[in-house]
Amino acid sequence: MRLQNRTILITAAGQGIGRASAIACAREGARVIATDVNAGTIGTLGAEVPGIETAVLDVRDDGQVRALAARLPALDGLFNCAGFVHHGTVMEISDADWDFSVDLNVTSMFRMIRAFLPGMLDRARETGDASILNMASMASSIKGFPNRCVYGTTKAAVIGLTKSVAADFVKQGLRCNALCPGTVDTPSLRGRIAQAADPVAAEKDFIARQPMGRLATVEDITPLVVFLLSAESRFVTGQASLVDGGVTI
Ligand code: NAD
Repeated sequence: MRLQNRTILITAAGQGIGRASAIACAREGARVIATDVNAGTIGTLGAEVPGIETAVLDVRDDGQVRALAARLPALDGLFNCAGFVHHGTVMEISDADWDFSVDLNVTSMFRMIRAFLPGMLDRARETGDASILNMASMASSIKGFPNRCVYGTTKAAVIGLTKSVAADFVKQGLRCNALCPGTVDTPSLRGRIAQAADPVAAEKDFIARQPMGRLATVEDITPLVVFLLSAESRFVTGQASLVDGGVTI
């Protein structure tokens, strides 16, 4: 049980990587508080996995974030997973789309960290270690890809936020890392494939950019999530950890 006695909150845990991470952390003994803006999907997670606590949380709403932080115990781990993939070049993004992606992909993490950090520092004083994990991406933030302008901008900003928090609190037992997955088979990826003009070709293109010849599954990603949220990674902070099937070799 690698996460015994650790209380971990995960955002966007209704589906995809967030949901799989909640299940993986619970299996390793964590007290998991799984949150999502979608009451339906987060509700089914609570019903499916006994012991996982769930809460509806819109990470774009600072009032909701502060209210949740005020009623929860101090956290040992925080996984900021929420994010949205916007398609398009710099010439194709409206101001509203830009603002939405910046708010959901980056500002939400600033809000969450600001609200939960004081309690996490208390826990770090008691136990010697607390860990924040922010979801970045391999796509565009590490390696450039076409049609990912605002996505890549925001995910690069997540890495900057991560390094800043890591540097500011390294002496207080608080670590902060970013996760940079390659292309992962999740409901939103399926949605992006379905919306393409030629969905069969779109899926082939996604697979073609993976040197291992396949998309990642969520279970390819969760071992690194567990490691970075556990004390096993206690000497790791400020890093953008790639799990991309060799795309950036
Ligand atoms: P997904 O896109 O299928 O699901 C996203 C979840 O976010 C949904 O449950 C949705 O309800 C929730 N959500 C949306 N707005 C929210 C809000 N305002 N507050 C709280 N929750 C909200 O999941 P995914 O594909 O696993 O992506 C999760 C994260 O991983 C994202 O940050 C994404 O950018 C990143 N990522 C995904 C991939 C991939 O290929 N799937 C690759 C690299 C990084």
